[in-house]
Amino acid sequence: MRRRPKKSLGQNFLRDANVLRNIVTTINPVAGDVICEIGPGDGSLTRGLVDSDARVIAVELDDVLFTRLSTEFSETSLALFHQDVLTTDFHHLARSENKRLRIVGNIPYNITSPILFRLIDFRRDIIDATLMMQREVARRIVSQPGTKDYGILAVATQLVADVRLHFDVSPRSFKPAPDVFSSLVQISFLDNPRFPVRDEVFMRHLIRTAFGKRRKMLRNSLLDIVKTRDELEGIPNLDKRPEALTVEQLVGTANTLFDRVSNG
Ligand code: SAM
Repeated sequence: MRRRPKKSLGQNFLRDANVLRNIVTTINPVAGDVICEIGPGDGSLTRGLVDSDARVIAVELDDVLFTRLSTEFSETSLALFHQDVLTTDFHHLARSENKRLRIVGNIPYNITSPILFRLIDFRRDIIDATLMMQREVARRIVSQPGTKDYGILAVATQLVADVRLHFDVSPRSFKPAPDVFSSLVQISFLDNPRFPVRDEVFMRHLIRTAFGKRRKMLRNSLLDIVKTRDELEGIPNLDKRPEALTVEQLVGTANTLFDRVSNG
């Protein structure tokens, strides 16, 4: 029996055969790959993945869809997990497969940022992530300094990965049609951060603080991090807004400040 898609779980199902094919072509799954799909839904993308030579695992939260998928794919080698992606232990999955994962998903748009940060946290267990998301969010991830889109998502992602925007997708390709356009983004994790980071937690705290007040000069927002104004003495670029700084400059600021704050 058909039932109404759950808005709360971001259920906009891909119904466009060309788009589905283009996603699989972009991923290019080959023998030896372990593909992990986030939110397989009714299996439209999963089918193309399972038909490749790669091993496929998938994580779906919805009870009804999970049960349906289990039946529909019972004759295939798909390994299905009834789980929330936001609590999924990708390290455990990668270890049990003895392989770093290749993530793919037409993800629920309402939890795009938490998913991204979770993937970044587990990046040592992940080769790449090919994700369909709201077009505006995709633009932010690939944006450059000095633009209105540049912010936390760009800095956090580009520090640890190469990012590439592949193509945009019309709302008409989904059922029900979302209110927004979508884009396919590929995030390929580097072995090490692009620039050495003294402390990753502090780095994330700094970019959240700085871009939380993106209209303010860095000097003003960083006062929330330091105990005294003196700790900011001599740090370059404080008279600029965070959006004017490259990822390398922001890392430099975080490293200097971390040394001062932790030694102080
Ligand atoms: N892959 C299917 C497609 O392309 O048509 C469905 C995509 S739909 C945009 C998002 C899917 O993610 C739904 O199947 C939804 O139930 C599932 N989902 C939502 N929140 C989830 C979560 N926290 N963890 C795992 N799956 C989730």
